[in-house]
Order: sequence, then C-alpha cells, then structure tokens
Amino acid sequence: MVTQAQILQWLEAYATDIEENKAYLTELDAAIGDADHGINMDRGFKKVSIQLPTLIDKDISNILKSVSMTLISSIGGASGPLYGTWFLRASTAVADKQELTAEDVLELLQAGLDGVLQRGKAQLGDKTMVDVLSPSVDAFRQSVGEGTLEAMQQAVAAAQRGLKETIPMQARKGRASYLGKRSIGHPDPGGTSAYLMLKSLLGVLDSSR
Ligand code: ADP
Ligand code: MG
Repeated sequence: MVTQAQILQWLEAYATDIEENKAYLTELDAAIGDADHGINMDRGFKKVSIQLPTLIDKDISNILKSVSMTLISSIGGASGPLYGTWFLRASTAVADKQELTAEDVLELLQAGLDGVLQRGKAQLGDKTMVDVLSPSVDAFRQSVGEGTLEAMQQAVAAAQRGLKETIPMQARKGRASYLGKRSIGHPDPGGTSAYLMLKSLLGVLDSSR
C-alpha cells in the first residue's frame, strides 16, 4: 500500500533530487537542446516543494492535481505541459483513493504515460521521456502481483535500461530533433528526469518497508 504521507514524501524527495541534479539535467539539455531542462524542472518543483505543506490534508488525487497545476503554470518549454499532464492523469486515475494498492499504482503510472503520449505524440525510439516511462510501466505490470515495492524495483530497473537506450537514439521530437544526427550519443534530458521521478518513489517505498 502507498499512503498519502508517502506520496507527499515522494514529491519532497523528487524536488530535492531535481535540485541536486539541476546542473546535470541542464548540461544534458545543453548537449542536445537549449540548456534549460534542469532550470525548468527546478523552477517547477521548487514551487511544488513550497506548496506541499498546504496539501497535507488533501487526498492523493487532489495532491497530484495541485502539483499538475503548479507545474503547468511554472515550467515553460515542452516538459511543463508534459509533466503537468502526467500528474493530471495520475490524479484522475486514483480519484477518491485513500491508499494505493499495487494495481492502483499501475493505473496511475499507465494513466500518466497515456497522457504524455497523447499530449506529445512521441513514439518509442523518438528519444524522449516516453522511452523511460513506457518500459517502466510494462515492467511494473509484469511484477504487479509481487506487490508495490517489488514491482517498483522492476519499474525503476526498466527505466534505467530505457534511459541508457536513449543514448544511441536520434531525437525525433522536441528541440533535440532539430539537431538531427548530432542528437546521437547523449542521454535524453527528459528521460533522465523521468527516471529520477520513478527512482525517488522507489526510495520512499524502500525506506518505509
Ligand atoms: P524544451 O525542449 O522546450 O526546452 P525541456 O528542455 O524542459 O523543454 O524538456 C526537454 C525534454 O522534453 C526532452 O528531453 C524530452 O524528454 C521531452 N520531450 C520533448 N518533446 C516531447 C514529446 N513530444 N513527447 C514526449 N517528451 C518530449
Ligand atoms: Mg530545453
């Protein structure tokens, strides 16, 4: 079971991870984009972090919805609407739930991915966050019967593999696609922040078992 308190811990942990990786994410985006991914994500998640104390009495769905609104209004670029959509769909998937079973977490992850796919229209292999999110949802589904922690471990391992696989890809979506073949040889910045998002959730589940 994932509790409301763990969701709040996850968001705090992810905001910290983003802050710690701000320079790295920006460096990755400097190689294949416009050097703002770390700045964008940190701007959004700093706002989320400030907002968290006001969300303490809300249910999981409303917490995720508030995060979505904050991200959409504070992050520019491609990643703002995409992460905003991920959190909005995640919020809808767990409406009225007080705690999340492994199946609920699967619904949440799948809904988030579906939102990103609909919004960004990227396909697997386009060198985007989809290449990290999609295999992680598949891996979670494969292990959902083993419980949330085990399934999340598999999801994060798959996310890490997916991220590594973005390195030789040529970008076909977003700013990186303007570089053509020169986008080859670098990890995708948004894929990296997506991996960190899943890893920070695993960290919270792991520390409270
Ligand atoms: P921008 O590209 O506007 O500068 P960011 O640098 O914050 O925005 O985010 C770039 C990341 O957004 C990319 O690394 C990629 O993972 C993701 N991205 C861009 N376009 C798409 C898309 N159409 N679908 C999914 N993800 C995308
Ligand atoms: Mg950028």
